[in-house]
Amino acid sequence: PKERPRPHVVLLPSPGAGHLIPMAELARRLVELHGFAATIVTFTNLSGPGDAHQLPPCLHASVAVAALPAVQMDDLPANVHDGRVLAELVRRSLPNIRALLRSINCTTLLAAVVPDFLCSMALPVTAELGVPGYLFFPSNLAMVALTRHIVELHEGAAPGDYRDVAVPLELPGGVSLCSADIPDAFRGSFANPRYAKLVELVRSYRLADGMLVNTFYDMEPATAEAFERLAAEQAAGASAFSYPPVFPVGPFVRPTDPDEAAAGASTPCLEWLDRQPVGSVVYVAFGSGGALSVEQTAELAAGLEASGQRFLWVVRMPSTDGGSDEDDPLAWLPEGFLERTRGRGLAVAAWAPQVRVLSHPATAVFVSHCGWNSTLESVGCGVPMLAWPLYAEQRMNAVILEEKLGVALRVAPAVGGLVTRHEIAKAVKEVVEGDQKLRRRAEDLQKAAARAWSPEGPSRRALEEVAVKWKAALGRESNT
Ligand code: UDP
Repeated sequence: PKERPRPHVVLLPSPGAGHLIPMAELARRLVELHGFAATIVTFTNLSGPGDAHQLPPCLHASVAVAALPAVQMDDLPANVHDGRVLAELVRRSLPNIRALLRSINCTTLLAAVVPDFLCSMALPVTAELGVPGYLFFPSNLAMVALTRHIVELHEGAAPGDYRDVAVPLELPGGVSLCSADIPDAFRGSFANPRYAKLVELVRSYRLADGMLVNTFYDMEPATAEAFERLAAEQAAGASAFSYPPVFPVGPFVRPTDPDEAAAGASTPCLEWLDRQPVGSVVYVAFGSGGALSVEQTAELAAGLEASGQRFLWVVRMPSTDGGSDEDDPLAWLPEGFLERTRGRGLAVAAWAPQVRVLSHPATAVFVSHCGWNSTLESVGCGVPMLAWPLYAEQRMNAVILEEKLGVALRVAPAVGGLVTRHEIAKAVKEVVEGDQKLRRRAEDLQKAAARAWSPEGPSRRALEEVAVKWKAALGRESNT
C-alpha cells in the first residue's frame, strides 16, 4: 500500500531573530520527535537586526522554509511605530498566507498551523481550512496571563470603551506588578490608539485552539499551576470566561552550531574569554534592539571601569535624538576608556555569539535587558543576572527573575531613569563577589531547564500532548 504522507505543521513567526529562533527549535522537535513535516513561513519584508547572523545555523535541514512574497509597505508614514508596521505587514500578507496554506493543504496532510503571538490574524484562515491553530508565545506564562487579563477586562466592552488596568496588577500565580513593571503597551487608556490595537490583537487570541509558550514549569511554577486550575474550572463549566489552554513547551534557545563548534570556529570574543580566569567575566549585552542613550552609555563605561571587574561588553549604537554620522558604536565610549581597561575588559561592536559566551566557563554574570531569549539562554547556562530591563515585557521578566526565582538583582535607576556609575559599579561587584546565593539558584534553575526536555520532562510531555491531539484530529477527519 502507498505510504501515508507525513502530517505537516506550518509555523508562522513574525520577523526578528528572537521570534524566529525559538520557532525553528519547536519545528525541529516536531519533526525529530513526532514525525511531522514542518515548514517555517517567513516574511520577505522587514528582516530584523541580527537575522543574518542567526538564521543559517538554526534552521535544521529537516525543516522547510517558504518565503511569502514581499508586499507594498512604502506608503506607511515614516513615523509609525514598529508594532503598527508589523501588524500592517501581517494584514497585507494575509491573502498570500491564505494562498500558501491552501496549496500546502492540497498537496500534503496539513495537521496544524502555528502563528506566533503577533501573527494571530492568520487564525481565521486556519479555521477556514478546518485545521487546528495554536499560537506560539516566544515569551512567558506571565505574559499570557497579562493578555488573558486584558481580554477578560474588555469582555463585552465596545471599542472605544477601554478600561484601565488597575494596579498593582495581581496575575494568576502571584506575580504582582506595579504600574512601571507592566509592559508599556498594556498600560491602557481610553485615548491611546495603540492600546485599542492591542486590545484588538489579544482578543483574537481566543480564536486559538491552544498556546505553546516558550517557558518551562520550574521557571514559573505557580503561574503554570494557576493556568492548570483555570483550565480545570473551564473544563468543568465552572467559569463563564474561556481562554485557550496553555502548554509550556520550552526552553527553546538558539543551538550552538555543531559544525561551527567542531571546526573550532572562534571569534575575538571567545579567544579573549579563553584567556580569562574561570568565573571572572561580566558579560554585558542588551539584545538585538536595546539602545542606551549617549549619556547612559558613558555612565555604563564609567561604572564598569569603577567596578574593577573583568568585562565583555557588546556595545550598540546609542540612541541619538538628532541623528549622527558616526556609525562605529565604540566611538561613543568615553575618551581613554578602551586604553584604561585594556586587558581587563573587551568592548565589541554590535554583536557577540551570545550563547557561546554564556556557556564559556570564564563568564560569571550577565548584565542583561532581560529579553526573554537572553533570559532563557542565561538560565540554560546557569549564569546569574544583573537585570537592566529597557522596554516591552522586560521589566516584568526582571520581577520574575529577582522576586520569584532569585537568580537576578535589578539595577536601580536614579530619578530621571539614569542608572549611575556608582549604582553600576556597586551592583556588578555585588553579583560577582557577593554571597553566592544567586549563583546557586542559577545552577539549580539550569538543572531544571535541562530536566524540562529530558525523556519524562514536563515540556517534552506537554508537546507530546499537543502532537497527539493534532494527529487524533487528522484521524477523525480521514474517518469522516
Ligand atoms: N544576541 C546575540 N548577540 C548579541 C546580542 C543578542 O547572539 O550580541 C541574541 C541573543 O542570544 C538572543 C537574541 O539575540 O537570542 C536576543 O533576543 P532577546 O529576546 O533576548 O532580546 P530582543 O533582541 O528581542 O530584545
